Amino acid sequence: MEQQKTGKFIAEMRKEQGLTQRELAEKLMISDKTVSKWECGNGLPEISLMLPLCEILKISVNELLTGKRLQSSEYKKNAEDNLMKLINEKEHAKRSLWLGIIAFIPAFLAGITLIMIAGYFDLEVWQRIVLIVIAVLTIAAGLTVAVVLEVHSGAFECANCGKRFMPKMGAYLAGLHTATRRYLKCPYCGQSSMCIRRFSLHEETEEEK
Ligand SMILES: [Zn+2]
Repeated sequence: MEQQKTGKFIAEMRKEQGLTQRELAEKLMISDKTVSKWECGNGLPEISLMLPLCEILKISVNELLTGKRLQSSEYKKNAEDNLMKLINEKEHAKRSLWLGIIAFIPAFLAGITLIMIAGYFDLEVWQRIVLIVIAVLTIAAGLTVAVVLEVHSGAFECANCGKRFMPKMGAYLAGLHTATRRYLKCPYCGQSSMCIRRFSLHEETEEEK
């Protein structure tokens, strides 16, 4: 979805309603900073705010997401596209993360088993070495699949400026991390910080934060 287009459209429609950013923010009980952020194209309104926002701006959610007034003929197609994009993006991210974990576990267990066999059984040295090499390769393969899927499982939010972005594979692997944060350089403000993992490039509802 094009955040820039939606942002411009919000600004346009707000002015058409004769509202300032502050007045619109007050009606939605949010800060005017948030409205300004949307209008600059830095993030979409969270889903719970979309309906009240559209009501105030006298537009449809569909028009909001498309970023323009729609004729009735385009309307249906755009509505479906927008809805599916919102749903798919998040589902896809969650699925990738789980697939990554699932791919890693059997490879890890197989590797550990081989190492145990190499350690406990009475084997020739070369047999132990072969087993350990296979074990390490198996674990490495599982880890690679897990990491590739994990990188595709969503966005990170800059701790400095709050914008969301998809990290590059190299930076992702090099970054120090915890379960929910990773040290990455933000492509928007250029600052490196412990960025927070998010399942979507767009804003989420308060409960998910
Ligand atoms: Zn930033």
